[in-house]
Amino acid sequence: MPERPIYLDHHATTPVDPRVLECMLPYFREQFGNAASLNHVYGRAARDAVEAARDELAAVLRCQPREITFTSGATEANNLALKGIFAGLPSTAHLVVSAVEHRSVLDPAARLERQRYAVTRVPVDSFGRVHPDAVSAAIRPETGLVSVMWANNEVGTINPIAEIAAVCRARNVLLHCDAVQALGRLPIDLEQVPADLVSLSAHKVYGPQGVGALYVRRGPRRIVLTPQIDGGGHEQGRRSGTLPVPLIVGFGAACRMAEAEREREQPRLATLRVQLWEAIRTRIPDAVLHGDPEKRLAGNLHVGFPDVDGDALLTGLTKIAVSSGSACTTAAPEPSHVLRAMGVADRLSRASLRFGLGRETTNRDISSAATHVADVVERLRRQMTNDK
Ligand code: PMP
Repeated sequence: MPERPIYLDHHATTPVDPRVLECMLPYFREQFGNAASLNHVYGRAARDAVEAARDELAAVLRCQPREITFTSGATEANNLALKGIFAGLPSTAHLVVSAVEHRSVLDPAARLERQRYAVTRVPVDSFGRVHPDAVSAAIRPETGLVSVMWANNEVGTINPIAEIAAVCRARNVLLHCDAVQALGRLPIDLEQVPADLVSLSAHKVYGPQGVGALYVRRGPRRIVLTPQIDGGGHEQGRRSGTLPVPLIVGFGAACRMAEAEREREQPRLATLRVQLWEAIRTRIPDAVLHGDPEKRLAGNLHVGFPDVDGDALLTGLTKIAVSSGSACTTAAPEPSHVLRAMGVADRLSRASLRFGLGRETTNRDISSAATHVADVVERLRRQMTNDK
């Protein structure tokens, strides 16, 4: 087999951890029951496995198991949060989202706007950070929901989510938080952070693709969430559909493992990321770091290379698998909306790379990647000078 490029795209997806896969396998084979078939042992075993996974998630998030609704992923969880809340609100209701949300928040927001709800997109600073004051300024008496992500999937910037949640609480407005990139990388303590709805996905934490969850807080304030998929009334009627038991089992195991390893793994990734940045910067001194230098996900490095053609850069990088902007938006050749919101010029945005380091990334990978990137950037710049 030809040698495969070094995988440095862990914000797009992560490989399933072999230990997670081991936990899942019995539920494809002998324990294949439908978790809703409670009249026999096959179904009850499946149901028990689903509930055990729900408990594992709840332990990681410090919430109650019944506050968790399994979905097909975070795209569905985000859609359910926004559309499910607005379905119960009058047409005068107002939505606040940050300008750097994932498309699975921005697109439902745009649809709600077409349906005549007012939407405010809160700007970010040059690091891509959403300021609590800016959220506060956007809230109106009619605001029905605020949606701000915990950490950005492109530039890795971590938002002051506890403060944003406090602002929403004080103004009596619900907060939805897309915590996909935070899960397993940052502590998510929902006893401390009063977010009302939280979206999660398994395949960013070395779990399987195709499963996620929406956390919906239970408390004095009853949250009315209109289901977006009707059918057998699964998941307390919030999301119908036969539960994918092996995937849910994998999700639970992946969360448990990521949480157990988080405090050891994240500093390791931070060290590797700093090494990568230093090595790139030594050879390409005008490389630009995007995102917050410190308050960023440990394994995220986002770098712009001035005076380089973005397409040629991506095509030239044959030895590493990285992303330019967000993988989820690469179908559209538009420059990243996140970098744009941060004030990065489109040309630099196109010549920017997102490195996402992960569990299998080694020191050697980092030095090879840095050398390769610098070689390609230098070669493209030489070619450009020659062409002039
Ligand atoms: N939100 C964020 C921040 C993401 O990074 C992603 C994955 N690209 C999603 C939502 C969508 O998650 P899923 O792939 O589970 O639908």
